[in-house]
Amino acid sequence: MKSSEIRKRWLQFFESKGHEVVPSASLVPYNDPSLLWINAGMAPLKKYFDGSEIPKNPRLTNSQKCIRTNDIENVGKTARHQTMFEMLGNFSIGDYFKKEAIHWAWEFATEALGFDKNRIYVTVHTKDDEAFGYWTNEIGLPAERIARTEEDNFWEIGEGPCGPCSELFYDLKPEMGKDDVFHPDNHDGERYLEFWNLVFTQFNHNADGSYTELPKKNIDTGSGLERLCLILQGVETNFDTDLFQPIIQETARLAGKPYREKAEWDVAFKVIADHLRTVTFSIGDGALPSNEGRGYVIRRLLRRAVRCGKVLGIEKPFMYTLVSLVGEIMGDHYPEVVEKREFIERVVKAEEERFHVTLADGENLLADVLKRVKEEGKSVLPGEEAFRLYDTYGFPIDLTEDICAEQGISIDREGFESALNEQRERARAARKDVASMAVQTSLYDELKISSDFVGYRETAAGAQVL
Ligand code: ATP
Ligand code: MG
Ligand code: MG
Ligand code: MG
Repeated sequence: MKSSEIRKRWLQFFESKGHEVVPSASLVPYNDPSLLWINAGMAPLKKYFDGSEIPKNPRLTNSQKCIRTNDIENVGKTARHQTMFEMLGNFSIGDYFKKEAIHWAWEFATEALGFDKNRIYVTVHTKDDEAFGYWTNEIGLPAERIARTEEDNFWEIGEGPCGPCSELFYDLKPEMGKDDVFHPDNHDGERYLEFWNLVFTQFNHNADGSYTELPKKNIDTGSGLERLCLILQGVETNFDTDLFQPIIQETARLAGKPYREKAEWDVAFKVIADHLRTVTFSIGDGALPSNEGRGYVIRRLLRRAVRCGKVLGIEKPFMYTLVSLVGEIMGDHYPEVVEKREFIERVVKAEEERFHVTLADGENLLADVLKRVKEEGKSVLPGEEAFRLYDTYGFPIDLTEDICAEQGISIDREGFESALNEQRERARAARKDVASMAVQTSLYDELKISSDFVGYRETAAGAQVL
């Protein structure tokens, strides 16, 4: 089953249950300074959940584009994570609750999508006997296919509405046998794939730390389209589905290297395909590469993709040539990536070109420095040298490390860190001095390019805050 068909079935199924189909909101949050990016299907609907607005229909469904930078390190390593993904959702604003949410999740998975009933496992919160009752007595799921968990199974962000979750998993490797006790952490997601999270928002977390029942309870569910595709297309990873394969195949053609031949190349193929989508959609939604906030995320992702291109032997700008593929694959539901294609290509190309110049300058300088180090019979690159490349030329430290390693040279990381700290102190002091602001700004900007997503962290519920 094709991805576009799965998305369509989701929206039609919930429409048939009285839900209104709402279009995907922009990845750039509107009126929500607590979020850097929309990172869940409910994020753009928060106004309904907190009661500040009343929807015409209390039942809503959507397919929402999401970005999660906290998953960046997982991309290419796990089968199931991207930085950008589509979250399919159904929501009840003070309308139906647990019983319907559970029945419809089961009906959609087993009937509309035809999942094998014997391969579905669920988690239920340790204290949520009501949900457990629906799963066992009404759906008929055997108790051994249910894990009662607490960790990761309660949704809350500080004070406010919150509640227990029930998550659905699909057994990707039933041949491993039944002796295994089901737990979401077993086999690191490789056997039991989480594909749907049902959140039952039934409590208010009060300022004094207590929890009280909400008068109007909500349902918030989210399911990753790419994971549903993985299951239905019978492939190993999200990247092997029809959502990514055309991008990976075209990258393989450009690189003259096949996918699935070498593990290191495969990680590069996956990172490129993932980052391409994230960058394409976010620029399409009005974010632009820059040195801070969202723009900095885009810049970092593009630079990382360019470096993965180098791993595959692609030495010139190429990401911009792949942008049109994103529109070909997903344009039926997200016309903006088709409409804004030319603009996105131009921005991506300019950014790639700029980074190539930085890399070329840095590589030449590094070659000179390394020659000197070797002539002196040493095997360690002084920290100040690594810092100079990084500070003055924006040359990423891990790239310096890679190039040095290829020549059997290590880096004095401690020396690098202390030079970096000194520089930060100097920049801080300088910023206090208004007269020197203009001169120091560019220096400060370069520092930020090379530091690692500083300033953002994930809350327990996955919201990004500054
Ligand atoms: P995981 O434990 O696999 O990281 P999660 O528990 O963080 O997932 P939720 O916050 O529950 O995910 O999001 C709801 C659904 O969105 C998940 O069940 C999954 O199908 C999908 N999803 C979450 N994160 C990603 C991601 N980085 N890439 C693709 N799909 C994702
Ligand atoms: Mg996660
Ligand atoms: Mg999870
Ligand atoms: Mg989850």
